[in-house]
Amino acid sequence: MDDRLKRPRAAAFAILGLAVLSSIPVSGAMPVLLLIVAVLGFALVDSVRQRVEAPEYAIVASWMFAQVVIAFAVVMTGGIDSHAAFWLAIPVVTLPARFGIRGLAAGVLFTASLLLVVTLVIPAGDPAPDAYKTIYLVAALMAVAVLSTALMRSDLDHRTDAVIDGLTGMLNRRALAQRLDELAAQARISALPVSVIVADLDHFKQVNDLHGHAVGDAVLVDVAYRLRKELRAFDLAYRLGGEEFLVVLPGADAHDGVVIAERLREAVAAEPIAGLDITMSFGVAGSHGAVFDHERVLAAADAALYEAKAAGRDRVAIGGVRRDSADLALA
Ligand code: GH3
Ligand code: MG
Ligand code: MG
Repeated sequence: MDDRLKRPRAAAFAILGLAVLSSIPVSGAMPVLLLIVAVLGFALVDSVRQRVEAPEYAIVASWMFAQVVIAFAVVMTGGIDSHAAFWLAIPVVTLPARFGIRGLAAGVLFTASLLLVVTLVIPAGDPAPDAYKTIYLVAALMAVAVLSTALMRSDLDHRTDAVIDGLTGMLNRRALAQRLDELAAQARISALPVSVIVADLDHFKQVNDLHGHAVGDAVLVDVAYRLRKELRAFDLAYRLGGEEFLVVLPGADAHDGVVIAERLREAVAAEPIAGLDITMSFGVAGSHGAVFDHERVLAAADAALYEAKAAGRDRVAIGGVRRDSADLALA
């Protein structure tokens, strides 16, 4: 997060820098010097942050330091009457995403205390002429716009990275964990079965060993595409890691799952991928009625996949999910 903030923070400083440069005729060069000090402070923290044991303290310290420097700039440009006082709000924008609500509260308290000190201890100087007030306010507006956009983007990227596999664009294991409980709840309400297909490329290590990792990656991307193309929009396809995939079929029982897995198997084997004959093995299992116990269903599908491998690969095997009396009572 703090790395992603580097560039927008530099842009925000540049905007404020232009504003203080423009006001040299009334406020002198001192605010410019202060801004340079603040930038140097951040640069220093960025360089030590990689090496210290508790980088969060360095980040907090540099944040507080920046506020103190801005408070000095407020004093230089007319005390509490200076419109540069609004600049103290700019670093506050970055707090919630980095330090949470408690950090935000502490930061607001700290900033309010600085304003109080500026008001009580330092007598108001000559406020800058109106034209500079406008410049200071517009600069604040732009800096907030730049920072808040960067924070929003970073949050969005972070959420996407967390659930999407970068190579194939499929959902990843973390996305699966989030979905399993919802599927169980849906099954309880609808009493419809859920089946899963576990799929694993055959002899994939050889593909890497003989043709290189880049070809291996290209095969993974194409296999993911072929699987996706055979599925319905509401079927869920995941890359669990390595060369292992999982398909979740809401509303389909294990026998429907076998039919679909057979289609997937044919789609992968139909034509060479990257000039290579690629095959895949599949294990299928499904829940009954209202109970989707994902651990049991996934374990059964894994066991079936193991059987498919043992039986010679390039095939589909079905695994049984035992029903106990509790399931039957619910189903
Ligand atoms: P089997 O038919 O029994 O599944 O044999 P296999 O060779 O496919 O199985 P194994 O699990 O021994 O090998 C999996 C290989 O997948 C090992 C690793 O080199 C490769 N692999 C895992 N993740 C990636 C990846 O992201 N890209 C590439 N290119 N290869 C990967
Ligand atoms: Mg394999
Ligand atoms: Mg494997």
